[in-house]
Amino acid sequence: MKIAVFSTQAYDRRFLDEALAAHPQGRDITLEYQEAALALHTVALAQGCDGVCVFVNDHLDAPVLEALHRSGVRAVLMRCAGFNNVDIEAAHRLGLFVARVPAYSPEAVAEHTLALILTLNRNTHRAYARVREGNFALDGLLGSNLHGKTAGVVGTGKIGLATARILKGFGCRVLGHDPAPAPEFAALGTVVDLPTLLAESDIVSLHCPLLDSTWHMINRDSLARMKPGAMLVNTSRGALIDTPAVIEALKSRQLGFLAIDVYEQEGSLFFHDRSGDIIDDDVFQRLMTFPNVLVTGHQGFFTVEAMREIAEVTFENIDCFVSEKHCANEIVL
Ligand code: NAD
Repeated sequence: MKIAVFSTQAYDRRFLDEALAAHPQGRDITLEYQEAALALHTVALAQGCDGVCVFVNDHLDAPVLEALHRSGVRAVLMRCAGFNNVDIEAAHRLGLFVARVPAYSPEAVAEHTLALILTLNRNTHRAYARVREGNFALDGLLGSNLHGKTAGVVGTGKIGLATARILKGFGCRVLGHDPAPAPEFAALGTVVDLPTLLAESDIVSLHCPLLDSTWHMINRDSLARMKPGAMLVNTSRGALIDTPAVIEALKSRQLGFLAIDVYEQEGSLFFHDRSGDIIDDDVFQRLMTFPNVLVTGHQGFFTVEAMREIAEVTFENIDCFVSEKHCANEIVL
Protein backbone atom coordinates (compact mmCIF):
# COMPACT_ATOMS: atom_id res chain seq x y z
CA MET A 1 0.00 0.00 0.00
CA LYS A 2 1.46 3.33 -1.09
CA ILE A 3 0.13 6.55 0.40
CA ALA A 4 0.86 10.12 -0.64
CA VAL A 5 0.94 12.18 2.53
CA PHE A 6 0.18 15.82 1.78
CA SER A 7 0.84 19.02 3.75
CA THR A 8 3.59 17.47 5.82
CA GLN A 9 6.10 19.23 8.03
CA ALA A 10 9.03 17.62 9.85
CA TYR A 11 6.84 17.06 12.93
CA ASP A 12 4.20 15.16 10.90
CA ARG A 13 6.89 12.93 9.43
CA ARG A 14 8.36 12.28 12.88
CA PHE A 15 5.13 10.99 14.41
CA LEU A 16 3.99 9.07 11.30
CA ASP A 17 7.42 7.41 10.97
CA GLU A 18 7.33 6.39 14.65
CA ALA A 19 3.85 4.88 14.26
CA LEU A 20 4.90 3.14 11.02
CA ALA A 21 7.96 1.62 12.71
CA ALA A 22 5.76 0.24 15.49
CA HIS A 23 3.14 -1.12 13.08
CA PRO A 24 3.17 -4.93 12.63
CA GLN A 25 2.56 -4.62 8.87
CA GLY A 26 4.66 -1.49 8.55
CA ARG A 27 6.86 -3.06 5.85
CA ASP A 28 3.85 -3.30 3.52
CA ILE A 29 3.12 0.42 3.78
CA THR A 30 5.06 3.15 1.98
CA LEU A 31 4.50 6.77 2.88
CA GLU A 32 5.43 9.33 0.23
CA TYR A 33 5.74 12.63 2.01
CA GLN A 34 4.79 15.83 0.23
CA GLU A 35 5.14 19.33 1.62
CA ALA A 36 2.56 20.64 -0.84
CA ALA A 37 -1.10 20.83 0.03
CA LEU A 38 -3.45 18.68 -2.02
CA ALA A 39 -5.25 20.72 -4.68
CA LEU A 40 -6.02 20.23 -8.37
CA HIS A 41 -2.52 21.34 -9.39
CA THR A 42 -0.83 18.89 -6.98
CA VAL A 43 -3.01 15.81 -7.58
CA ALA A 44 -0.29 14.38 -9.86
CA LEU A 45 1.88 13.85 -6.76
CA ALA A 46 -0.50 11.02 -5.80
CA GLN A 47 0.00 9.19 -9.11
CA GLY A 48 0.54 5.48 -8.46
CA CYS A 49 -0.63 5.70 -4.85
CA ASP A 50 -3.49 3.72 -3.32
CA GLY A 51 -4.37 6.41 -0.85
CA VAL A 52 -3.83 10.01 0.16
CA CYS A 53 -3.32 11.24 3.71
CA VAL A 54 -4.44 14.83 4.19
CA PHE A 55 -4.89 17.61 6.73
CA VAL A 56 -7.12 20.62 7.38
CA ASN A 57 -6.06 22.86 4.50
CA ASP A 58 -5.95 20.27 1.73
CA HIS A 59 -8.74 20.77 -0.78
CA LEU A 60 -10.70 17.68 -1.69
CA ASP A 61 -13.53 19.05 -3.76
CA ALA A 62 -15.23 17.01 -6.51
CA PRO A 63 -12.68 17.76 -9.29
CA VAL A 64 -9.76 16.82 -6.99
CA LEU A 65 -11.48 13.61 -5.86
CA GLU A 66 -12.31 12.69 -9.46
CA ALA A 67 -8.68 13.26 -10.49
CA LEU A 68 -7.46 11.17 -7.54
CA HIS A 69 -9.87 8.39 -8.46
CA ARG A 70 -8.70 8.43 -12.09
CA SER A 71 -5.11 8.04 -10.90
CA GLY A 72 -6.00 4.95 -8.86
CA VAL A 73 -6.45 6.41 -5.38
CA ARG A 74 -9.12 4.57 -3.37
CA ALA A 75 -8.64 5.86 0.18
CA VAL A 76 -8.63 9.31 1.78
CA LEU A 77 -7.08 9.26 5.24
CA MET A 78 -7.61 12.46 7.17
CA ARG A 79 -5.18 13.39 9.93
CA CYS A 80 -7.87 15.58 11.52
CA ALA A 81 -11.38 15.48 12.92
CA GLY A 82 -13.11 18.15 10.80
CA PHE A 83 -13.91 17.20 7.20
CA ASN A 84 -15.42 20.42 5.85
CA ASN A 85 -12.65 20.42 3.20
CA VAL A 86 -13.85 17.14 1.63
CA ASP A 87 -16.83 16.83 -0.70
CA ILE A 88 -18.18 13.73 1.02
CA GLU A 89 -21.00 13.24 -1.50
CA ALA A 90 -18.52 13.19 -4.37
CA ALA A 91 -16.24 10.80 -2.45
CA HIS A 92 -19.13 8.39 -1.92
CA ARG A 93 -20.23 8.65 -5.52
CA LEU A 94 -16.70 7.61 -6.51
CA GLY A 95 -16.64 4.80 -3.93
CA LEU A 96 -13.68 6.28 -2.05
CA PHE A 97 -13.02 5.20 1.52
CA VAL A 98 -12.78 8.35 3.67
CA ALA A 99 -11.77 8.07 7.31
CA ARG A 100 -10.76 10.66 9.89
CA VAL A 101 -9.31 10.87 13.38
CA PRO A 102 -12.45 11.89 15.25
CA ALA A 103 -11.03 12.40 18.73
CA TYR A 104 -7.36 13.09 19.22
CA SER A 105 -6.98 14.54 22.63
CA PRO A 106 -9.89 17.00 22.87
CA GLU A 107 -8.00 18.32 25.89
CA ALA A 108 -5.22 19.54 23.59
CA VAL A 109 -7.61 21.98 21.90
CA ALA A 110 -9.50 22.77 25.12
CA GLU A 111 -6.28 23.60 26.98
CA HIS A 112 -5.11 25.80 24.10
CA THR A 113 -8.48 27.56 24.23
CA LEU A 114 -7.85 28.33 27.89
CA ALA A 115 -4.31 29.47 27.12
CA LEU A 116 -5.77 32.01 24.70
CA ILE A 117 -8.47 33.14 27.13
CA LEU A 118 -6.02 33.58 30.02
CA THR A 119 -3.48 35.37 27.85
CA LEU A 120 -5.98 37.97 26.69
CA ASN A 121 -7.63 38.20 30.07
CA ARG A 122 -4.38 39.00 31.84
CA ASN A 123 -2.47 40.63 28.97
CA THR A 124 0.39 38.17 29.29
CA HIS A 125 1.15 38.58 25.56
CA ARG A 126 1.89 42.26 26.22
CA ALA A 127 3.61 41.65 29.56
CA TYR A 128 5.99 39.14 27.95
CA ALA A 129 7.21 41.68 25.39
CA ARG A 130 7.42 44.49 27.95
CA VAL A 131 9.45 42.60 30.52
CA ARG A 132 11.96 41.47 27.89
CA GLU A 133 12.49 45.15 27.08
CA GLY A 134 13.06 45.96 30.73
CA ASN A 135 9.66 47.64 31.08
CA PHE A 136 8.00 46.57 34.32
CA ALA A 137 5.18 49.14 34.31
CA LEU A 138 1.73 47.68 34.94
CA ASP A 139 -0.23 50.43 33.26
CA GLY A 140 -2.26 48.86 30.43
CA LEU A 141 -1.99 45.34 31.83
CA LEU A 142 -5.08 45.43 34.07
CA GLY A 143 -6.90 42.13 33.73
CA SER A 144 -10.06 40.60 35.14
CA ASN A 145 -10.83 37.39 37.02
CA LEU A 146 -12.25 34.42 35.19
CA HIS A 147 -13.81 33.32 38.47
CA GLY A 148 -17.46 34.33 38.53
CA LYS A 149 -17.67 35.14 34.81
CA THR A 150 -20.14 33.56 32.41
CA ALA A 151 -18.59 31.47 29.65
CA GLY A 152 -20.66 30.31 26.68
CA VAL A 153 -19.58 27.16 24.87
CA VAL A 154 -21.02 26.83 21.36
CA GLY A 155 -20.93 23.11 20.56
CA THR A 156 -20.90 20.68 23.48
CA GLY A 157 -19.08 17.85 21.70
CA LYS A 158 -15.74 16.42 22.76
CA ILE A 159 -13.76 19.68 22.74
CA GLY A 160 -16.66 21.80 24.00
CA LEU A 161 -17.12 19.45 26.95
CA ALA A 162 -13.39 19.44 27.77
CA THR A 163 -13.39 23.25 27.62
CA ALA A 164 -16.52 23.48 29.79
CA ARG A 165 -14.90 21.23 32.41
CA ILE A 166 -11.88 23.52 32.69
CA LEU A 167 -13.99 26.68 32.71
CA LYS A 168 -16.12 25.22 35.49
CA GLY A 169 -12.92 24.50 37.41
CA PHE A 170 -12.03 28.18 37.15
CA GLY A 171 -15.33 29.02 38.83
CA CYS A 172 -17.16 30.22 35.72
CA ARG A 173 -20.88 29.91 35.20
CA VAL A 174 -21.00 27.82 32.01
CA LEU A 175 -23.67 28.08 29.32
CA GLY A 176 -23.84 25.78 26.32
CA HIS A 177 -25.58 25.82 23.00
CA ASP A 178 -25.87 22.77 20.75
CA PRO A 179 -28.70 21.37 18.60
CA ALA A 180 -27.83 17.99 20.14
CA PRO A 181 -26.30 18.77 23.54
CA ALA A 182 -24.07 16.12 25.09
CA PRO A 183 -25.83 14.58 28.13
CA GLU A 184 -22.60 15.08 30.15
CA PHE A 185 -22.94 18.83 29.72
CA ALA A 186 -25.82 18.92 32.22
CA ALA A 187 -23.30 18.41 35.06
CA LEU A 188 -21.20 21.34 33.86
CA GLY A 189 -23.61 24.06 32.84
CA THR A 190 -26.95 25.11 31.40
CA VAL A 191 -28.06 24.58 27.81
CA VAL A 192 -29.57 27.72 26.31
CA ASP A 193 -30.44 29.02 22.84
CA LEU A 194 -27.75 30.89 20.92
CA PRO A 195 -29.20 34.41 21.45
CA THR A 196 -29.27 33.83 25.23
CA LEU A 197 -25.71 32.48 25.22
CA LEU A 198 -24.48 35.49 23.23
CA ALA A 199 -26.33 37.98 25.42
CA GLU A 200 -25.20 36.55 28.76
CA SER A 201 -21.64 35.37 28.15
CA ASP A 202 -18.48 37.30 29.03
CA ILE A 203 -16.59 34.75 26.94
CA VAL A 204 -18.03 33.01 23.87
CA SER A 205 -15.98 30.01 22.73
CA LEU A 206 -16.77 28.21 19.47
CA HIS A 207 -16.49 24.40 19.35
CA CYS A 208 -18.92 23.39 16.62
CA PRO A 209 -18.03 22.06 13.17
CA LEU A 210 -18.05 24.15 10.03
CA LEU A 211 -21.22 23.26 8.16
CA ASP A 212 -23.43 25.21 5.74
CA SER A 213 -25.59 26.00 8.79
CA THR A 214 -22.68 27.28 10.90
CA TRP A 215 -20.79 29.26 8.20
CA HIS A 216 -20.39 32.85 9.50
CA MET A 217 -22.55 32.08 12.54
CA ILE A 218 -20.66 34.96 14.15
CA ASN A 219 -21.64 37.87 11.93
CA ARG A 220 -22.75 41.47 12.31
CA ASP A 221 -26.11 40.42 13.89
CA SER A 222 -24.69 37.91 16.36
CA LEU A 223 -21.88 40.31 17.33
CA ALA A 224 -24.51 42.98 18.12
CA ARG A 225 -26.25 40.46 20.40
CA MET A 226 -23.10 39.85 22.43
CA LYS A 227 -22.45 41.49 25.76
CA PRO A 228 -20.50 44.72 25.11
CA GLY A 229 -16.82 44.15 25.79
CA ALA A 230 -17.09 40.36 25.72
CA MET A 231 -14.38 37.99 24.47
CA LEU A 232 -14.81 35.82 21.38
CA VAL A 233 -12.65 32.71 21.01
CA ASN A 234 -12.49 30.49 17.95
CA THR A 235 -10.37 27.35 18.02
CA SER A 236 -12.73 25.47 15.74
CA ARG A 237 -12.82 26.56 12.08
CA GLY A 238 -12.11 30.02 10.66
CA ALA A 239 -15.24 30.35 8.57
CA LEU A 240 -17.49 30.18 11.63
CA ILE A 241 -16.62 33.89 11.88
CA ASP A 242 -17.21 36.71 9.42
CA THR A 243 -13.83 38.36 10.04
CA PRO A 244 -14.58 41.81 8.50
CA ALA A 245 -17.69 42.00 10.76
CA VAL A 246 -15.50 41.10 13.76
CA ILE A 247 -13.05 43.86 12.84
CA GLU A 248 -15.92 46.36 12.77
CA ALA A 249 -17.09 45.13 16.20
CA LEU A 250 -13.54 45.52 17.57
CA LYS A 251 -13.28 49.03 16.14
CA SER A 252 -16.63 50.05 17.68
CA ARG A 253 -15.52 48.47 21.04
CA GLN A 254 -18.63 46.25 21.00
CA LEU A 255 -16.24 43.26 21.00
CA GLY A 256 -13.71 43.53 23.81
CA PHE A 257 -11.27 40.74 22.87
CA LEU A 258 -10.74 38.25 20.08
CA ALA A 259 -8.65 35.09 20.23
CA ILE A 260 -8.43 32.85 17.18
CA ASP A 261 -6.45 29.74 16.38
CA VAL A 262 -8.18 29.43 12.99
CA TYR A 263 -8.87 31.92 10.24
CA GLU A 264 -11.13 31.65 7.20
CA GLN A 265 -8.28 32.37 4.75
CA GLU A 266 -5.63 30.51 6.77
CA GLY A 267 -4.77 28.15 3.87
CA SER A 268 -2.24 30.54 2.35
CA LEU A 269 -0.71 31.56 5.71
CA PHE A 270 -0.76 28.95 8.42
CA PHE A 271 1.75 26.14 8.88
CA HIS A 272 4.44 28.04 6.93
CA ASP A 273 7.16 30.52 7.85
CA ARG A 274 5.99 33.70 6.14
CA SER A 275 8.11 36.01 8.29
CA GLY A 276 10.18 37.17 5.30
CA ASP A 277 7.17 37.71 3.03
CA ILE A 278 4.81 40.57 2.42
CA ILE A 279 1.41 39.36 3.58
CA ASP A 280 -1.21 40.42 1.06
CA ASP A 281 -4.21 39.62 3.24
CA ASP A 282 -5.33 43.07 4.47
CA VAL A 283 -8.07 41.65 6.69
CA PHE A 284 -5.57 39.47 8.54
CA GLN A 285 -3.07 42.32 8.77
CA ARG A 286 -5.75 44.63 10.23
CA LEU A 287 -6.41 42.02 12.93
CA MET A 288 -2.71 42.09 13.80
CA THR A 289 -2.94 45.78 14.72
CA PHE A 290 -5.28 45.32 17.70
CA PRO A 291 -3.69 44.92 21.12
CA ASN A 292 -6.76 42.96 22.26
CA VAL A 293 -6.52 40.37 19.47
CA LEU A 294 -4.51 37.17 19.83
CA VAL A 295 -3.88 34.86 16.89
CA THR A 296 -2.18 31.48 16.86
CA GLY A 297 -1.63 29.53 13.65
CA HIS A 298 -3.89 26.49 14.11
CA GLN A 299 -1.85 24.88 16.87
CA GLY A 300 -4.70 23.79 19.14
CA PHE A 301 -4.10 20.15 18.18
CA PHE A 302 -0.32 20.42 18.42
CA THR A 303 0.71 18.41 21.46
CA VAL A 304 2.85 15.28 21.64
CA GLU A 305 -0.17 13.32 22.86
CA ALA A 306 -2.44 14.46 20.04
CA MET A 307 0.21 13.97 17.32
CA ARG A 308 0.82 10.41 18.55
CA GLU A 309 -2.89 9.70 18.57
CA ILE A 310 -3.34 11.13 15.07
CA ALA A 311 -0.55 8.93 13.69
CA GLU A 312 -1.76 5.78 15.46
CA VAL A 313 -5.41 6.21 14.46
CA THR A 314 -4.37 6.96 10.87
CA PHE A 315 -2.70 3.54 10.74
CA GLU A 316 -5.77 1.90 12.29
CA ASN A 317 -7.80 3.49 9.49
CA ILE A 318 -5.32 2.20 6.89
CA ASP A 319 -5.67 -1.32 8.40
CA CYS A 320 -9.45 -1.11 8.11
CA PHE A 321 -9.17 -0.05 4.48
CA VAL A 322 -6.70 -2.81 3.59
CA SER A 323 -8.63 -5.58 5.39
CA GLU A 324 -12.04 -4.17 4.35
CA LYS A 325 -13.08 -4.35 8.01
CA HIS A 326 -15.77 -2.08 9.46
CA CYS A 327 -14.17 1.24 10.32
CA ALA A 328 -15.69 3.30 13.12
CA ASN A 329 -13.86 6.36 11.81
CA GLU A 330 -15.18 6.11 8.26
CA ILE A 331 -17.18 9.15 7.22
CA VAL A 332 -20.52 7.92 5.95
CA LEU A 333 -23.28 10.07 4.50
P1 NAD B 1 -17.67 16.97 18.04
O1 NAD B 1 -18.27 16.39 16.82
O2 NAD B 1 -17.35 16.08 19.19
O3 NAD B 1 -18.61 18.15 18.59
C1 NAD B 1 -19.16 19.13 17.78
C2 NAD B 1 -20.47 19.56 18.43
O4 NAD B 1 -20.97 20.70 17.71
C3 NAD B 1 -21.56 18.47 18.39
O5 NAD B 1 -22.07 18.24 19.69
C4 NAD B 1 -22.61 19.06 17.47
O6 NAD B 1 -23.94 18.69 17.82
C5 NAD B 1 -22.38 20.56 17.70
N1 NAD B 1 -23.00 21.42 16.71
C6 NAD B 1 -23.34 21.14 15.41
N2 NAD B 1 -23.94 22.22 14.87
C7 NAD B 1 -23.98 23.17 15.82
C8 NAD B 1 -24.52 24.49 15.86
N3 NAD B 1 -25.13 25.03 14.81
N4 NAD B 1 -24.41 25.18 17.02
C9 NAD B 1 -23.81 24.64 18.10
N5 NAD B 1 -23.29 23.40 18.12
C10 NAD B 1 -23.39 22.68 16.99
O7 NAD B 1 -16.36 17.74 17.55
P2 NAD B 1 -15.10 18.16 18.43
O8 NAD B 1 -14.11 17.05 18.43
O9 NAD B 1 -15.55 18.72 19.71
O10 NAD B 1 -14.46 19.30 17.50
C11 NAD B 1 -15.12 20.53 17.31
C12 NAD B 1 -14.44 21.28 16.20
O11 NAD B 1 -13.13 21.66 16.63
C13 NAD B 1 -14.17 20.44 14.94
O12 NAD B 1 -15.28 20.46 14.07
C14 NAD B 1 -12.98 21.11 14.34
O13 NAD B 1 -13.44 22.04 13.39
C15 NAD B 1 -12.34 21.85 15.50
N6 NAD B 1 -10.97 21.38 15.80
C16 NAD B 1 -9.97 22.30 15.86
C17 NAD B 1 -8.68 21.90 16.17
C18 NAD B 1 -7.53 22.88 16.27
O14 NAD B 1 -6.37 22.46 16.20
N7 NAD B 1 -7.77 24.15 16.46
C19 NAD B 1 -8.41 20.55 16.40
C20 NAD B 1 -9.47 19.64 16.36
C21 NAD B 1 -10.75 20.06 16.05
